[in-house]
Amino acid sequence: MKQRKLFGTNGVRGIVNSEFTVDMVTKLASSSGSYLGKEIAVGRDGRTTSIMFRDAVIAGLLSVGCNVHDLGSLPTPALQYGVKYFGLDGGLMITASHNPPEFNGIKVMASDGVEVSREQETEIEDIYFKGGPDLVSWDTIGSVFEKDSLHIYRDTVISHVDSEAIREACLKVAVDPGNGVAAYVAPDIASSLGCSVYTVNVDVDGTFPGRSSEPRPDNLSMLIELVKASGADIGIGFDGDGDRAIFVDEKGEVHWGDRSFALVAKEYLTNNPGSIVATPVSSSQVISDVVTDLGGKVVWTKVGSVVVSRKMVDEDIKLGGEENGGIMYGPHIETRDGSIALVLILEIMAKKGKPLSQLFGELPQYFQSKERVTCPNELKRDVLSKFIEKSDAPEVETIDGVKMKYPEGSWVLVRPSGTEPIFRIYSEAASQMDANVLANENKNKLVAFIKELSE
Ligand code: MG
Repeated sequence: MKQRKLFGTNGVRGIVNSEFTVDMVTKLASSSGSYLGKEIAVGRDGRTTSIMFRDAVIAGLLSVGCNVHDLGSLPTPALQYGVKYFGLDGGLMITASHNPPEFNGIKVMASDGVEVSREQETEIEDIYFKGGPDLVSWDTIGSVFEKDSLHIYRDTVISHVDSEAIREACLKVAVDPGNGVAAYVAPDIASSLGCSVYTVNVDVDGTFPGRSSEPRPDNLSMLIELVKASGADIGIGFDGDGDRAIFVDEKGEVHWGDRSFALVAKEYLTNNPGSIVATPVSSSQVISDVVTDLGGKVVWTKVGSVVVSRKMVDEDIKLGGEENGGIMYGPHIETRDGSIALVLILEIMAKKGKPLSQLFGELPQYFQSKERVTCPNELKRDVLSKFIEKSDAPEVETIDGVKMKYPEGSWVLVRPSGTEPIFRIYSEAASQMDANVLANENKNKLVAFIKELSE
């Protein structure tokens, strides 16, 4: 029998009132609350359906005797920091992150503010699928406390950088929260650091009228225009719940997340020689290059920010990141945080006194290619085994799918999707043509193995 699952890569998500309903959410909240403990934070993003789910989450938590600390509408990393700061037993964030407006979801945090581990997700699912937890008697139902944590969060984020140096640099910053909840903090943080701040899509609006809530090079045109029109030194585009950020340089060029992570890693390793950095196997070789050049080490993980965060906590690693713009800074909290990414990059710009395009230009350059191949779920395991067996790469890693490494930093990752009947192929090389060739060769191999094994 297929194991029933609620949690995906980042919490539980679905289309509202079909895949993701009030009934489900109430039971998920009571199951999570009974598992996590007594004092639970609740937060929500700016989606039109988030108020409805806030009430469902609160009802579920109270029914199992939890006290609810309602932190209101705020970025996910602010809720996460709030859990840690107030010493609570856990937190539930109502958000579907970067998904389209018809979606909503829940992210579940443990007492350290970091999302619960994959094993803990399964334990919560077990409670849920056994019919939900035992409810408490009427006279032990919990209470609701409203708390404002945004100013604490803002001050803490700022405390991690040299605010005097940033102030003296008088930087101009263009901010695009994409109508998401980063609007509540990011412009404020930048102006508190003495920056001139220009904004676009700054009204929190759950219909996301300005752009898709996932910041990608193809939908940041308004931010690029704003950078050019205002003469900004830097532009930053956030995702819907403010945990991921993508940067635009002063020339209006968008830089993907593994390059901004590489900038942060380079600075961190310079100041903390020999440090360890955690990142998923799908991240660019540029991370490995800057970290190892400075005497550090990269710990590769499975794909998914939760896995990186948990690895950081378990092994006391202070810096982590993902290629999609998630930077985790352990001295603050081991979770993705778009505002921390912003202040760390501002600090680098201020201290180096160089334009952002130049800072990015000093990083090693790689080119990437992506492909996908359809494969029935029941064949994935055998196809992958065969692929590993037949690989002629000098170095093979099987942390998540199979990553084959070649000389001069080239690699290709072949990975079965956890949710769809497909294999994803990612490749990277020193030229676009080499990256395309690597992806295509492996695509053809994969297609041949799938055909052979399905006969
Ligand atoms: Mg997000």
